[in-house]
Amino acid sequence: MTSKTLDAFLQENLEDLKARGLYNEIDPLEGANGPVITIKGKKLVNLSSNNYLGLATDERLKKVAIEAVKEYGVGAGAVRTINGTLDLHVKLEEKLAQFKGTEAAIAYQSGFNCNMAAISAVMDKNDAILSDELNHASIIDGCRLSKAKIIRFNHSDMEDLRAKAKEAKESGQYNKIMIITDGVFSMDGDVCKLPEIVEIAEEFDMMTYVDDAHGSGVLGKGKGTVKHFGLQDKVDFQMGTLSKAIGVVGGYVAGTQNLIDWLKVRSRPFLFSTSLTPADVTACTEALDLLMNSTELQDKMWENSAYLKENLEKLGFDIGKSETPITPVIIGEEQATQDFSKRLYEEGVYAKSIVFPTVPRGTGRVRNMPSAAHTKEMLDQAIAAYEKVGKELGII
Ligand code: PMP
Repeated sequence: MTSKTLDAFLQENLEDLKARGLYNEIDPLEGANGPVITIKGKKLVNLSSNNYLGLATDERLKKVAIEAVKEYGVGAGAVRTINGTLDLHVKLEEKLAQFKGTEAAIAYQSGFNCNMAAISAVMDKNDAILSDELNHASIIDGCRLSKAKIIRFNHSDMEDLRAKAKEAKESGQYNKIMIITDGVFSMDGDVCKLPEIVEIAEEFDMMTYVDDAHGSGVLGKGKGTVKHFGLQDKVDFQMGTLSKAIGVVGGYVAGTQNLIDWLKVRSRPFLFSTSLTPADVTACTEALDLLMNSTELQDKMWENSAYLKENLEKLGFDIGKSETPITPVIIGEEQATQDFSKRLYEEGVYAKSIVFPTVPRGTGRVRNMPSAAHTKEMLDQAIAAYEKVGKELGII
């Protein structure tokens, strides 16, 4: 294929995506990603960020990040194993281990590459991975990269998991077997059934891996899903992101010293991609300090999410069965969901629609992420917009 034919091929496919309403137009924010954002000069109450605790724009984090830039500069200068490990990285990893209650931790440049790195550094073609069908794309890619046999189980269906675990074990085909799950599922806000997963893993002698991108900073008084269930000693890989509740960027695995030492010599983004910047790691360490010393931000986030859920439900919306601040408003049909989100935008509320193929057909939803940074007035504005648009489009 020449570059000319490639271009024609791409154009045809892009047009097809646009015709089917599957092309995502990106509107840049003019300013910070806070509780209120500005797009094309329009101010909008922001219900679409993963910035659960409002830390992305926290003054304390900004201050330490600026100081780190003054002292260390803007870049780490190399990959971790050459000379891109600053004392700041070590401090962050020690703090992460303390936060998660493990012997050690390793930080990566993002949650996405953390999953790709950690899964593929431990699992290989002689192994099997039992993976929840709704696990995040980065888990799926990490599993594929490892070349292990991927066995998907129905979402949070423990009978299905047990049957597949038994079959995999009894087949005698695999060296190692891992069960991997999101801690909190981001489309519905449901929490994985970790006690049962751990029990099945123990029964069949398997490893466990929890991606707690949406649980850390949120559940277990901020320490995450594993802590929420009191299972810190039973989960081998506690993976998390530094980009959501922590408000910055990065990913990590917390676990035993041997696991972390292994990841430091075998995981490719650690070996071959430049490390997190001084500002990032310093802000993350500060965020962890804040979370370990007070639950004030979590309390506010839970209060705001209860307020939003209660009022949306009172208006007659179907908000699913979320156990976390993630608040889906289920609209159903794809076009109706997109229309709903567009009308909210016109009313000054930014809440993204999520439709097939991200969620099953007919379960389109507008997803709301209330945070500690929202004021009651902002939430009231959003609730009023929901009422107006819901009545206008015949949803309530
Ligand atoms: N895992 C899950 C469950 C996620 O939701 C995300 C973010 N969408 C990631 C991993 C990737 O994290 P990051 O954005 O930090 O790369």
